Amino acid sequence: MIRCLNCGADRSADTCDSCGLNSAVAELSLRKKLLNRTGMFVLGALAFVAASVWYPPVEADNVLIFIGALFFPTLGLAILVERRALRHREVEALKRIYYGLVPIPWLLAILLVTNGALDRQPPQIEEERIVGKFAMAGALPIRRLVVTSWRDGHRFEHIAIDRTDFDNFHSGEFVKVKVEDGLVGIPWVAGVSIP
Ligand SMILES: [Zn+2]
Repeated sequence: MIRCLNCGADRSADTCDSCGLNSAVAELSLRKKLLNRTGMFVLGALAFVAASVWYPPVEADNVLIFIGALFFPTLGLAILVERRALRHREVEALKRIYYGLVPIPWLLAILLVTNGALDRQPPQIEEERIVGKFAMAGALPIRRLVVTSWRDGHRFEHIAIDRTDFDNFHSGEFVKVKVEDGLVGIPWVAGVSIP
């Protein structure tokens, strides 16, 4: 007994009693759905990265590591579901896990935007010294200012900044870092300026 690739109903003959598709058409339908969901998932991941640029969390690097740790295994799962469907093996459970993971980057993007955009509290100004900076080119360029930390138990902070700021700031200078608490408690950096 195998489940219909289209609707998930138990299927004993080639044509599914529940949705009326035969196994070849059901497989096509599944692959089309997988492709659509994968598109949504990738867009969600991009939206999340964009949100983390607009409202950069203090822990920007950990946030990116987290999204990477979610992104690649989820895409791997989509590939696994498709491979199994090609071999006419059971996919129902894996497919449901995959469909459940698809909206997560969108929810996280909404969370970051809500955290930043609706945060009406005045920022905390921290005066810190720049100890270094680094940039990584690529599809998602990464620019970080390394400053002394204002937080207990942290020596340095890696602050996400844009290109103009990156060129304007130099090691050894003092900067004012505007830190916001965040509406849902994710501290983020509203800006960096020279005192
Ligand atoms: Zn069916």
